[in-house]
Amino acid sequence: MDLPRRAQVVIVGGGIVGCSLAYHLTLRGWTDVVLLERKQLSCGTTWHAAGLVGQLRATYNLTRLAQYTTGLYAALEQETGQATGFRQTGSVAVATNAARFEELKRGASMAKCFGLDVQTVSPSEVAGLWPGVRTDDVVGGVFLPKDGRTNPIDTTLALARGAKNRGARIFENTKVEEILVEDGRAVGVRTVQGELRADFVVNCAGMWAHELGARAGTTVPLHAAEHFYIVTEPMPGLSASLPVLRDPDSCAYFKEDAGKLLVGWFEPVAKPWGMRGIPETFCFDTLPEDLEHIEPLLSAAMHRTPALADVGINLFFNGPESFTPDDRYLLGETPEVRHLYVAAGFNSIGIQSAGGAGKVLADWIIDGHPPMDLWDVDVRRCMPFQRNRRYLRDRTVETLGLLYAMHWPFHQPESARGARRSILHDRLRERGACFGEAAGWERPNWYAPEGVKAEYVYSYGRQNWFEHSAREHAAVRNAVGLFDQSSFAKFVLQGPDAETVLNRICANDVSVPVGRIVYTQWLNERGGIETDLTVTREARDRYLIVTAAASQTRDLAWLQRHIPEGAGAVAVDVSSGMAVLGVMGPRSRELLATLTDADLSNASFPFGASQVIDLAYARVRASRITYVGELGWELYIPTECAPEVFDALLAAGGPFGLRLAGYHAMNSLRMEKAYRHWGHDISDEDTPLQAGLGFAVAWSKPGGFIGREALLRQKERGVTRRLVQFALRDPLPLLYHNEPIWRDDAIAGRIASGMFGHTLGKSLGMGYVENQDGLADRDFVLGGRYEIEVAGVRVPADASLAGFYDPAGLRIKDAGGT
Ligand SMILES: Cc1cc2nc3c(=O)[nH]c(=O)nc-3n(C[C@H](O)[C@H](O)[C@H](O)COP(=O)(O)OP(=O)(O)OC[C@H]3O[C@@H](n4cnc5c(N)ncnc54)[C@H](O)[C@@H]3O)c2cc1C
Repeated sequence: MDLPRRAQVVIVGGGIVGCSLAYHLTLRGWTDVVLLERKQLSCGTTWHAAGLVGQLRATYNLTRLAQYTTGLYAALEQETGQATGFRQTGSVAVATNAARFEELKRGASMAKCFGLDVQTVSPSEVAGLWPGVRTDDVVGGVFLPKDGRTNPIDTTLALARGAKNRGARIFENTKVEEILVEDGRAVGVRTVQGELRADFVVNCAGMWAHELGARAGTTVPLHAAEHFYIVTEPMPGLSASLPVLRDPDSCAYFKEDAGKLLVGWFEPVAKPWGMRGIPETFCFDTLPEDLEHIEPLLSAAMHRTPALADVGINLFFNGPESFTPDDRYLLGETPEVRHLYVAAGFNSIGIQSAGGAGKVLADWIIDGHPPMDLWDVDVRRCMPFQRNRRYLRDRTVETLGLLYAMHWPFHQPESARGARRSILHDRLRERGACFGEAAGWERPNWYAPEGVKAEYVYSYGRQNWFEHSAREHAAVRNAVGLFDQSSFAKFVLQGPDAETVLNRICANDVSVPVGRIVYTQWLNERGGIETDLTVTREARDRYLIVTAAASQTRDLAWLQRHIPEGAGAVAVDVSSGMAVLGVMGPRSRELLATLTDADLSNASFPFGASQVIDLAYARVRASRITYVGELGWELYIPTECAPEVFDALLAAGGPFGLRLAGYHAMNSLRMEKAYRHWGHDISDEDTPLQAGLGFAVAWSKPGGFIGREALLRQKERGVTRRLVQFALRDPLPLLYHNEPIWRDDAIAGRIASGMFGHTLGKSLGMGYVENQDGLADRDFVLGGRYEIEVAGVRVPADASLAGFYDPAGLRIKDAGGT
């Protein structure tokens, strides 16, 4: 078969992911699909996978995708006639301490939200499920009867056959040398056998995807690491129907493998591999054994399954797999190049993820948008600096082990830190800041007082910073707090058509006088929320757009792609040019007044106003706006002037009770106000009407806005799910996310975000409540009896459609103030 000259879709890479994509594209009727593999199908990472197909992942959506994969593999052999080796023998995970057991139980609770069968089991039940396992140090476990295992090569071949049966063409020994890009759009590939033009190109090149993507100008941050397992000699009495056993506390999993025992690891300090690129010749290769590296792991495994000590080891296996900086895979259209998609960086769960990932990516390509909220894995979350190889190598040392490490709330990576720092970083550190990482930025999450170490001590309960953060929270509510918010992404849209262009993108009306701030969402054609931000009119022809650090790449790409051809408007990322300080609290005005001559009174500087003022020795943009629900100003300061402004604020702050405050306090404050957080409470599958943000929609502005028609239809129909605030009646259990929401003894949703509200003294959560039988109107929402399930225990909760704190917003407007 000759290589065609053109195709609708070209997939680069014939691992399980590329083959799954070809399978699902053809399943949806796109049959003009060409898959190019440089050597042989599955010869990269896929062939040597252990073949575990687990379903429970750290988040709701990733679990849904893994659950889909299991169903797909179960039926694949029958459909294609190609044996897959897939068997559903279940899996059991054990906990050797209370925290791990809580993690497992929280996962089991989450799984209830979509009917995944997860059973909490006692140590003796574990022993019954897996004879020979040592349980005297086991606290408990969870059993997933529908988890499976599969033969990765055969499953890949079955997916490939399914795709071929429906018309896809697969070429082995056909290396793609370059992805062709014209005018910012992928138009095909250049192979060793000539060019192939295509409407869409998909980078499924596994550990080669970074390099291939970089050559096309895209950021695909992943790095290979060595990954180990052993296979024993035949082990007498090992049943073929044994579930997979996971012992995350000793980083190990155990799988029966044709009468032998396969034991694999996720060790805490991994070995990055392929620093100088992946060898050209790699094909079904293995890496050298490293007995010294796995020896301690092996001892721990022998502790869990003592019979291991009595049997010989037949194979010491070492093979490379790709890892990403946050342990989540990379999916979707690249923000840099249109029609160039990626599916790579599977962090050792590519077999179990390939089915779901292939399905949603096929939908994404065909429909032009993701079929569900996929922000967890969306490649647009990546930052340009993450293409850096040294950073990737250093982070990979840690990421492999994180798969089985405790998934603590507020957990922060320890490696490759400090890539992005505010200009105030050193000043904050000197004052006790304990930093967390967001989009590579170091951000103060809380401040350790004198004598306290600025480091996390993790738990599922109140962590070591709880009381310190509570004091920061109190300062903002009662006096004044200072937040370093420099990590905000900031764009300028400028030009004669800036107003028209932006009004089409924003759901709210940005035709406002110069010096006004507009809170708005950007919607997609389905009315879903693409982002949540503020827009400040700086001049007749210039807007400052401020969005979250994590959305920087995504939102800039959205903005630039929605400037119509020929329009007189240019978008520029100015994030690095400005530091941002939030001065928030009832005494913020008094404090700022000591450093400026500007009139900060309600009459001259009302809520929603923005002015450039003198402050200390600088000229700063002061915007009267808040994410914490108090009187306050965000100060946009030329980066080089920020240290002096910061020093001046601190020097003047004492008499007003000024305290530095971190992101944990901000989160607590905003939860009390029910301010939404994009990525948690709102996403591209939630509309402003469902999210209770209808107040920010300018229905009748001239020219309309993207998503208006869909939103209008929904308004006429009414919504069947609605974002609701919850406060637990018991102040002790803490909410994080994904906890099931029970309404009158049925699960009606799950918590999207949670935090303790210190002013209210309650655990707070936000989540969508769905009415299966009708509208989620006020009567339905408030007429229910609610409980939130935390690690298997249902805790009674109060529900509210408004924020629990100052619902009328009197404090923001400084009602009664000057
Ligand atoms: C030891 C080990 C155990 C594992 N166990 C499990 C497990 O139990 N469960 C699980 O879910 N996952 C497991 N994994 C992970 C899983 O194997 C991977 O996540 C998965 O195989 C990744 O698939 P892929 O298609 O992305 O990559 P690959 O299989 O590497 O496929 C990429 C393909 O692209 C081709 N290619 C690259 N560049 C080009 C080019 N320029 N032109 C054409 N073709 C190109 C390559 O030759 C390769 O075949 C394990 C991994 C290892 C290493």
